[in-house]
Amino acid sequence: MHSSASDGTLSPAELVARGKANGLQLMALTDHDTLDGLAEAEEAARDCGLPFINGVEISVSWGGITLHLVGLRFDRSRALISNALDEMQRSRTERAHRMDAQMVAHGLPSVFDEALSYAGNPKLIGRTHFARALVARGVCAHMQEVFDRFITPGKPGYVSHDWASLSDAMGWIRDAGGEPVMAHPGRYKLNATAHWALMQEFMTLGGRTVEVSTGSHNQDDTRRYQRLSVDLGLMASRGSDFHSPTESRCDVGRAPPLPDGTAPVWSEWTDLALLD
Ligand code: AMP
Ligand code: MN
Repeated sequence: MHSSASDGTLSPAELVARGKANGLQLMALTDHDTLDGLAEAEEAARDCGLPFINGVEISVSWGGITLHLVGLRFDRSRALISNALDEMQRSRTERAHRMDAQMVAHGLPSVFDEALSYAGNPKLIGRTHFARALVARGVCAHMQEVFDRFITPGKPGYVSHDWASLSDAMGWIRDAGGEPVMAHPGRYKLNATAHWALMQEFMTLGGRTVEVSTGSHNQDDTRRYQRLSVDLGLMASRGSDFHSPTESRCDVGRAPPLPDGTAPVWSEWTDLALLD
């Protein structure tokens, strides 16, 4: 789930309260490319007695697409990961300026300042903030329209970007003692061969966990990745990918339960007392 430290609309403490109210047993905050929300979330979770682990969702360039690598339960004080993410945040700001320039060249208004004003964390600007700004300007009726018309690959405001390599991102998570998770694999536009190659590379690099149940998967995806996790001997993870009460299809804690036959990634964390 995402907080206002990246492109969610709720503060980390508000997300914790929502998670507690929705009956979470264990929570990870997984903001895009930043650790800035983790301290607030951890404190709020401690105050209300909700087991909490550090999380992050790192943007990765692989095989011509962008994919997301979640890291779970790592030491957020490690310099390698925090310095690397600082650098990614700087490159996000440059990318945002390029997006804005491309959209202006296409005849759209410049909305960089509004997009930044929607970013709860000025160091972390992304496409979601532009989508909110263009809806507020009346250019599009809703955020999906902004993505579909302007800011997905091939569209005029889309800027291709060099994110982290899969190997580097996995190294940062591992260096901090965390567990890398292949996030929402059903969302990636890869043919079967490339998809297979991705999972092989992920496993060769030490990857052991795939996200199976998520707000970003439909029922077919969930079944497919349950089978894949069983076939490849991978652990399974579950997450809402929640961004906002008004924008997200799946609320915090409302992703489908992990299907039978999967090994939850948290089953290894026997020192954590999950809530009943
Ligand atoms: P960014 O990391 O700045 O490229 O923004 C990525 C975020 O934009 C994702 O996590 C989604 O929340 C959202 N997003 C990406 N692609 C789409 C899409 N096609 N439709 C709606 N939202 C999208
Ligand atoms: Mn995501």
